[in-house]
Formats: sequence, C-alpha cells, structure tokens
Amino acid sequence: MSDKKFDVVVIGGGPAGYPAAIRAAQLGLTAACIDDYKNEEGVRAFGGTCLNIGCIPSKALLESSELYHRAHTEFEAHGIRGGAGVGIDVAAMQTRKRGIVKQLTSGVDVMFKAAGVTGFKGRGKLLAGNRVEVTTDAGVETLAANHVVLATGSTPIELPIAKFDGKRIVDSTGALAFTSVPKRLGVIGAGVIGLELGSVWRRLGSEVVVLEALETFLPAADQQVAKEAMRQFKRQGLDIRMGAKVTGASVQSDVVKVRFESGGTAQELEVDALVVAVGRRPVTAGLFAPDVKVPLDKRGFIEVDAHCRTGVPNVWAVGDVVRGPMLAHKGMEEGVMAAELIAGHVSEVNYRTIPSVIYTAPEIAWVGQTEEEVKATGRPYKVGTFGFGANGRAKAMQQAVGFVKLIADQEHDDVLGVHIIGPMAGELIGEAVLAMEFSASAEDIQRTVHAHPTLSESLHEASLAADKRSIHGINR
Ligand code: FAD
Ligand code: AMP
Repeated sequence: MSDKKFDVVVIGGGPAGYPAAIRAAQLGLTAACIDDYKNEEGVRAFGGTCLNIGCIPSKALLESSELYHRAHTEFEAHGIRGGAGVGIDVAAMQTRKRGIVKQLTSGVDVMFKAAGVTGFKGRGKLLAGNRVEVTTDAGVETLAANHVVLATGSTPIELPIAKFDGKRIVDSTGALAFTSVPKRLGVIGAGVIGLELGSVWRRLGSEVVVLEALETFLPAADQQVAKEAMRQFKRQGLDIRMGAKVTGASVQSDVVKVRFESGGTAQELEVDALVVAVGRRPVTAGLFAPDVKVPLDKRGFIEVDAHCRTGVPNVWAVGDVVRGPMLAHKGMEEGVMAAELIAGHVSEVNYRTIPSVIYTAPEIAWVGQTEEEVKATGRPYKVGTFGFGANGRAKAMQQAVGFVKLIADQEHDDVLGVHIIGPMAGELIGEAVLAMEFSASAEDIQRTVHAHPTLSESLHEASLAADKRSIHGINR
C-alpha cells in the first residue's frame, strides 16, 4: 500500500500544533495532525496540555474557587447576606471543569472538519525522508509529508527526591483533579503553575505552604509587581517560603513528610498532599527514528531558528518543545507562522511582545521589559504608575488593589514595558501589547480616549503619569 500523502503533517495537536494544521489547510495545503493524548477516562482528545490539563481546566477551577472566596470575603461589603454560609461541592466543580474541557477539545475536531484537516488520534514518529509513522488503535500506517511540524509540547518535571505517586505527591494534572480539599497542601515551586494551583486550593480552604528554592519571588516579573504580589498573597494566607529548597518527600501512612533546607537548617513539613510544580520539560522521547537527526539543545529542546526551522530540510518545530516561554499563545503564533512560511508567505512572530499572565487574584500581567531590565541597558527611561485604588470601576467591583506601571524611553517616548497587578490584568494587558506591537509612544496612549468608568483608564493614567500629567493620580 502506498503512503498517504500530505503537504503538511503536524505531530502534536496542542495549541501550537492544531493551529499550524488549520492555517496550512486555510492556505490550500493538505494537512494532517496527529495527537496521542488520552484523558483519565481513556478518551483521546486533541487540544494538548492547554485544553486538557493546563490553561483551561486551571482557569475553570480558579474561577469557581474565586467565586466561593468572594462570597465569603466580599458579599458582606456589597450588602449581600449569606455569603459566609456559602458551601462548596468539589465534585460539581470538577464536573463543570470537565464539561468545559470536553466542549473545547471536541471543538478542535469540529475545526479540523471545517478546515479539511485530517486528524489522527495516535502516536507519530518522524522517519527519514519526511515520512511519518502513525500508530492508532486501528494499527500502524505511514504518511508521506512535504513538510513536518513537530509540536509535541512539554510535560511536568519529576523530582527524583519527590516522586509522583498520583495520589498524595502529584503534578499539576493531579492537583487539578483532587476530589476533596486537602486540609494541608504543600507546593514545591512558586512559579506560575504553583501559584495558580496553590491559590485554587487555598481559596477552597486548604492551608497552603509554597516552598521555593530561589530567594527572589517571580524573578521574571517587574520586582515592584512581585513585591506587591507577595504582599497580597500573604494577606490571603498563602504561606510562601523563599529560599526553601526541598530535599526529599515521602508518603507515610496518610501524610506526606517534606524535608527542606532553609536559612542553612534542615526543616520538615507535614502535609496531606504535595504538588510538585518545578517546571516542565520538552517531549521528544520516541519521536525520531534512529536515522533521523534533528538537533536538540543541552536542555532537550528542539533547536530552531527565529522562524522555527530545525535545520533539517522541511522539518519545523513550534511551541513548548522549542526555546522561549512555555505559553499557549506563543506556540499558537509559532504554529501559524510555520504554516504560512510553508505556504510561501512572509510571516514572523514578534517575540518582544509576548504577554505573560498569572491568573491569581489579583491577576498579574506584563509585556516588554521590566524596570530592572531597562535599567540594566543603561538607557534613560521614565516610569508612570497608577493605582487601582483611585479607579472608579475597580472600586465599584470591590477590587481596588494593585497598579499599572508603564515604562517608556525618556527621550523617544516609546513604550518599553507595561506591568499590571490588579483586577482583570490579563485582559487589560491586551491594549499594552497592541500599543507595543504598533511601536506606540506613551503619548499615543495618553491621546487615546478610554471609556469611563473602566479599568483601562488605569493604563491611560499610568501613561500620563510617565510625564507627570496624571489627572487622577499622584505625579511623582
Ligand atoms: P502541548 O499543549 O503540550 O501539546 C502537545 C501534544 O502533543 C500533547 O497532546 C501530546 O500528547 C502530544 N504528543 C507528544 N508527543 C507525541 C507524539 N509522538 N505523537 C503524537 N502526539 C504527541 N499557558 C498559557 O499561555 N496560559 C495559561 O494560562 C497556562 N496555564 C497552564 C496551566 C497548567 C496547569 C499547565 C500545565 C500549563 C499551562 N500553560 C499555560 C502552558 C500551556 O499549556 C503550554 O504552553 C501549551 O500547552 C504548549 O502547547 P504545545 O502545543 O506546544 O504543547
Ligand atoms: P516555573 O519553572 O516557573 O514553573 O517554576 C518552578 C519553580 O520551582 C522555580 O522557581 C524553581 O526555583 C523551583 N524549584 C525547583 N526545584 C525546587 C526544589 N527542590 N525546592 C524548591 N523549589 C524548587
């Protein structure tokens, strides 16, 4: 039997892979996408980590837990009685989460059908000569591809000193699937995933201790924002211990004993469950036939250039399996870029304007350079900040915490970075991303009319404050 032929075969159907296949099909190419993910019920689904066990289920639980938390902490201020008596049903929360995941993952099948992409639910392996072996429940077949896009994503890092047991020592997937609220929860790693998952269970009642080896909290964030975040999280009862390096963890009867070093002394913590959130590693195991040589870097990422070419003719790689931030939207844009380049179009990803969002409460979001990074370049700059405490909409929402900080070049006025901690920061950052994408100056934002009363006025005021002309804020 001759191989089935496609212009583009994508291995991996997460947010980097499935858009690559859809965009290729939109541009008139024949495209296939192969994904081997199977959920806990044994059902195969496209969508990758993001839709199945990442962005979407975590945001579903963050929303539910936030509503519960706000009922307890804010209803009274709104004049709504009964908030303190509001209870939770973890099983119902998990059912809602699973329902959202199912709708979105089956949506990928629908999108494939509409675009004319052939989906294979099985395992893909790159063979020599750009052929791809696909193993599905129906058997093994080989596809011939003009171009192959590798989008196999990433998986949680397991610490040898705290091996997952799937029940009490878990990864992010396990922490998204708890069926009851652990009384005491330990989290290793104060990164984005550790903080989001710690927040979910803290809001639902767990006593949460986060152990982080580094001394600096959120090192990639602007440190003024990181400081405010630490203050807010502490107020919420998240016990975040910096400079605490976990050296071991073991399950004893029904508890987990966690050993860590802090301030030069060995310490121990007893918890009912432990989430290991120490980062993710690229997935390439079993992806290549022995005679296929796609170069990997020292950390196991597939090496690519700025256009996601691997160096092997017509083999591309996108998303978490390559360098750069492990973010769904970064992978998505890379997948689209690869498809457009394959189709002969001009395309690129602007890596300088990829937004970062942490979906805690308050949310944290930024784009561009932090003040620390700008300072290190030696370039003269100006800063404007505006607190949500003076924003009418934030007050009305009972969410008047945090601030917007805008950094611009002192002389040329171009926006270098925007950093937000506060309500809906993840939505607000969109305006800043667009501004930077269009090479906006602070003055461009100053002269843009912002609706009143909206949270977005805080970005407007921060841009004004950069030139000491904020109307509603303090011009320092
Ligand atoms: P993946 O989504 O990992 O998809 C790769 C797919 O390829 C998987 O389905 C895998 O099974 C499949 N695969 C691997 N090898 C093969 C093979 N040989 N054959 C066939 N299939 C294969 N990012 C954000 O931007 N925002 C967020 O809010 C956010 N929240 C997150 C929360 C959690 C708890 C986690 C874990 C991650 C979160 N992320 C978030 C990160 C985001 O999920 C990833 O950046 C994104 O999923 C990467 O996309 P990808 O397509 O490169 O890889
Ligand atoms: P991220 O890579 O952003 O998901 O964050 C993971 C965090 O886990 C990093 O800040 C690491 O410093 C932290 N980390 C890794 N190993 C340990 C350890 N053994 N004990 C405590 N923190 C750790």
